[in-house]
Amino acid sequence: MKFGGTSVGTGENIRQVSGIVSQYSKEYRVTVVVSALAGVTNKLLEVACQAKKGDEKLVKNFTGELLQKHKEAVVSAIVSDPLQKEVNQIIEKIVAELEKVLTGICYVGELTAKSKDYVVSFGERLSAPIVWGAIQDRNLETQCFTGKEVGIVTDSNFGEADPLMNFTMHLVHEKLCPLLEKGVIPVVTGFIAANQDGVVTTVGRGGSDYTATILGVALKADEVWIWTDVDGIMTTDPKIVSTAKLLPQLSYQEAAEMAIFGAKAMHPRALGPVSKENIPVRIRNSFHQENQGTLITKEPVADTKKIVKAVAIIKDVAMLNVNGAAMVGAPGSYAKVFEVLGRNNINVMMISTAASEANISMIIKRGMLSRAISNLEIALLEKEGLVNEITAEDDVVVIAVMGAHMKGTLGLASKIFDIAAKKGINIRMIAQSSSELNISFVVKEKDGTEVVRAIHEEFSLSKA
Ligand code: ADP
Ligand code: ASP
Ligand code: MG
Repeated sequence: MKFGGTSVGTGENIRQVSGIVSQYSKEYRVTVVVSALAGVTNKLLEVACQAKKGDEKLVKNFTGELLQKHKEAVVSAIVSDPLQKEVNQIIEKIVAELEKVLTGICYVGELTAKSKDYVVSFGERLSAPIVWGAIQDRNLETQCFTGKEVGIVTDSNFGEADPLMNFTMHLVHEKLCPLLEKGVIPVVTGFIAANQDGVVTTVGRGGSDYTATILGVALKADEVWIWTDVDGIMTTDPKIVSTAKLLPQLSYQEAAEMAIFGAKAMHPRALGPVSKENIPVRIRNSFHQENQGTLITKEPVADTKKIVKAVAIIKDVAMLNVNGAAMVGAPGSYAKVFEVLGRNNINVMMISTAASEANISMIIKRGMLSRAISNLEIALLEKEGLVNEITAEDDVVVIAVMGAHMKGTLGLASKIFDIAAKKGINIRMIAQSSSELNISFVVKEKDGTEVVRAIHEEFSLSKA
């Protein structure tokens, strides 16, 4: 069971989480994965960037507030006095360590990907002991671990690390199975792991989902449950369309198409490990346990047969255009562009090229944009002369329309683009994968929610 940031957002919510764990542990063996308290990861990243500028006072204020926030959560999450004291001591120690790290960044004036991972790891390191305390408070046997302690070993791609799956499976199995057999409930920090040298890594934003599925596979779990603040995966973000409908069942492939396109309901790579092993995943609402949520399996039984099932908006992206007459008819020229991006750990989320071959448009994470432009410029504009212009737009979003029955349905793309045209919205880029499960296009950020609402409406996604 993985509990997301809002599910552990306050002390009361953590108490509720321990209730859920207690209830299900009567029937099942449960391993718990926790995210940081809502908002804490963002704040840690923000302060780490400011610390680089040497603002020591800001660091002190921040760590003070962070300690306060977590201590407040302890008060309502845990009833027993001695337990409260024990957890508070753990938290104080961790915050003191964080203060040292941030002060160090102030002095060095440098924030590497490695130190950034170390800083953000504190969010989960602080939430897990409180959840552990709240479970213990209900007289259950429980033990708290970081991802590193439990044996999740990754490569050294800081910020987006990937597990070395065979090694991890062996270590996690060895560590947790004997405890589960004894009836102990392990509480594990999501999101954070370590490379082979023991240096802390993170598996990407929203990565606690990924931690949960990695552990699910290592423990040969019957199911992985992702507890969150919505009823499950919906036809679109319920924050954009309030009548969005729950999708009771999805295949791994459909859910992956939605998640990859950052519907935020799940980490993009989280379904990889479980789909190979055929372990079902349930997305459930920790505030409405009575609901069954979304069940993700290989072949859903109750399929709606709807052509379009859902529409997602992916924010925080940028469009990068590489133009060069020298690329036309030159085998290997695209490879050179992607090689430069790959070498610099820049993930390309979407690609589109013209048959003229003189232009490639790509979507990447917005935060990677300056790194991408500068590296492409050095490697291709200056050295090779392959490219004569690199341009970018950082005020765009991707709209992804998806559904398993879109495959082979004629006229769908024209219908979608017609909807945008009727609203006077200009489409900047288009891509459809050969899987035909997904049509994605790029519009200006200011038009994003309007086009999502229009597509949701036109395809009657609010209706069964
Ligand atoms: P958690 O903290 O539990 O990991 P996230 O914030 O990562 O939760 O993801 C849940 C949020 O994802 C929801 O609150 C919702 O606003 C958003 N979301 C976006 N698209 C969808 C969708 N299609 N279905 C459900 N939730 C979605
Ligand atoms: N706390 C991390 C994040 O905000 C991981 C997660 O919540 O899944 O990205
Ligand atoms: Mg999440």
